[in-house]
Amino acid sequence: MSGEGTMRAQPLAYAPLQFRLHSGGRNSNHALVACPKCEAPAFIRDSEQLTEKVKHLICHCTNSGCGHVFKMELAFVHTLVAGNLDRPDLDLPVCPRDQVTHILPPPRGANDADQISMFDTG
Ligand SMILES: [Zn+2]
Repeated sequence: MSGEGTMRAQPLAYAPLQFRLHSGGRNSNHALVACPKCEAPAFIRDSEQLTEKVKHLICHCTNSGCGHVFKMELAFVHTLVAGNLDRPDLDLPVCPRDQVTHILPPPRGANDADQISMFDTG
């Protein structure tokens, strides 16, 4: 039989390790943050509300080769859309007008080379 007694120089299969919060590959509702040491996803194990606008998060890196456990701070910056609830007891500043992100449609008549035409037949 050909190939008997030879070793492959490459691994038979490449299967990078994955961390799953739930079995069966279901999507998780848990938020992840990037580990500042290795940029792998880190899950939030616990949190502590410091003020109404600041929360500390205890995070665990999912990269077993890293294992970094760290605390991050989550802070309210400003309101983008005020929503429907009035909460005058909270001091929630509104985003300055010059910092509001605007997403505009492309100008009328502009040609987009990547846009597929609905009317081309060939
Ligand atoms: Zn890490």
